[in-house]
Amino acid sequence: MNNSKKVVLVGHFGVGKSSLVRRFVQNTFSDNYIVTIGVHILKKEIRINELDLTLIIWDIEGKDDIKKVRPSYLLGTSGFIYVIDPTRTQTYEHFNDELDFLKTNYSKAKVISVSNKSDLINLDEFQESLKQKQISIDYFASAKTGNEVEELFHTIGMKMI
Ligand code: GDP
Repeated sequence: MNNSKKVVLVGHFGVGKSSLVRRFVQNTFSDNYIVTIGVHILKKEIRINELDLTLIIWDIEGKDDIKKVRPSYLLGTSGFIYVIDPTRTQTYEHFNDELDFLKTNYSKAKVISVSNKSDLINLDEFQESLKQKQISIDYFASAKTGNEVEELFHTIGMKMI
């Protein structure tokens, strides 16, 4: 049985996709902003309910519009992690449309949404503003502190098996 699954992180430039992957795979964080060009692929094995699952994690370059992402990067994806930055509204102003696009075009894939950089915001206030915009976010994580990072990758793993 092939227990490896492709997971792709999507979202705008600078929302912290690479940082989340780095925190999850290497348990480190850096304040330096190193732009991902093209795609960076990492592997990590996790254990879910007695099952070993290899996550093939695609950290692709950020785009302000999901339709601009090369379809070849998205092909064969089992799980999407859509990342937003709570300190920059433009990273989630089209959130619902972007999610609909993924769900329509990659209907077999699981999708979870993550608001990163939780260390920089007042969580209650931000959650209230999302509610008003009718945006539903699954995880409020921080690659910097490590908060919720392990959980979000395990959740996408669980959904994919
Ligand atoms: P990407 O373009 O989406 O891959 O974003 P990066 O991972 O390169 O992060 C962009 C910038 O945000 C970098 O300067 C990171 O140090 C910073 N950053 C990423 N995650 C966090 C976080 O959880 N908290 C804070 N305070 N900064 C973060």
